[in-house]
Amino acid sequence: GAKEDGRGGYRMFEDGMNARMQARRTLELDLRRAIARQEFELHYQPQVDARSGRYDGAEALIRWHHPAHGLVSPAQFIPLAEETGLINAIGEWVLRTACAEARSWPDHLTVAVNLSPVQFRDVRLVAMIRSILAEAGLPGSRLEIEITEGTLMQDEERTFAVLGELRADGIRISMDDFGTGYSSLSTLHRFPFDKIKIDQSFVRRVPHDRDSVAIVRAIATLGASLGIKTTAEGVETDRQARFIAEEGCDQIQGYLVSRPVPAARIAVLFRDPRPLAATA
Ligand code: C2E
Ligand code: MG
Ligand code: MG
Ligand code: MG
Repeated sequence: GAKEDGRGGYRMFEDGMNARMQARRTLELDLRRAIARQEFELHYQPQVDARSGRYDGAEALIRWHHPAHGLVSPAQFIPLAEETGLINAIGEWVLRTACAEARSWPDHLTVAVNLSPVQFRDVRLVAMIRSILAEAGLPGSRLEIEITEGTLMQDEERTFAVLGELRADGIRISMDDFGTGYSSLSTLHRFPFDKIKIDQSFVRRVPHDRDSVAIVRAIATLGASLGIKTTAEGVETDRQARFIAEEGCDQIQGYLVSRPVPAARIAVLFRDPRPLAATA
């Protein structure tokens, strides 16, 4: 059999490589067609004020309904979309759709959109966001841009300049997945972020894991002293929510309040004035 046979084993390995490359190529072609065929959809996950228990807004999360494979998660296709540059077209579609859909929400609610590091290499990014806001009739203050530490690692000076322009238009800037990358305290000091999102890997382990408790507490304290809002991501239990609020985090996002839901459903959720019992 192949196991004992060196040549056979090698051939199997080669076939495996070809199969993987073939699958990748197919996925890329499918991805290229997905926008035109309207296979993408945005789901929205609410963000709730930790103290009042009221809605602040929602984060837009892309979903791909593949005609053959069904629902494909963003973790599976965003990396390939980034490598191939397709993320620019997809990201533009996400921004346009999110701004248009958020237009019908109550006036005080914001929509958060994830931006890929690749999108920051496009010199037209700021102009594109401005025209999308204008087209949707959405004030900049109702849009939040979520970036990760990876975005700051590629060209910090240019990225800060772009973020500064967006911020001048009233757009809020959030640091997503904080604590998992390389960003240092000085990053937070050098740019006026509006929000830090504490990564769910820490939130998931409070209050039972001592290290996670220390990390969440440190980030909440840091945010409070720098005047930056903090959001806990991935809150699934009452206990976690209580802990988060006690530590002074400003916002809660997670399955406890709601999973990401289609646009029609989020509009219904927003009718509830207080989805979470007030903690203070
Ligand atoms: P993210 O921006 O950090 O989004 C949070 C992810 O955590 C979402 O996964 C959300 O469904 C999930 N989540 C929220 N609450 C809970 C919870 O209580 N428990 C658990 N276990 N999970 C929770 P999703 O939608 O699969 O997205 C994964 C990642 O894909 C996002 O992480 C983001 O980095 C990326 N992504 C999603 N949509 C877009 C997009 O439109 N553009 C770009 N560039 N990236 C996107
Ligand atoms: Mg995000
Ligand atoms: Mg996150
Ligand atoms: Mg994440």
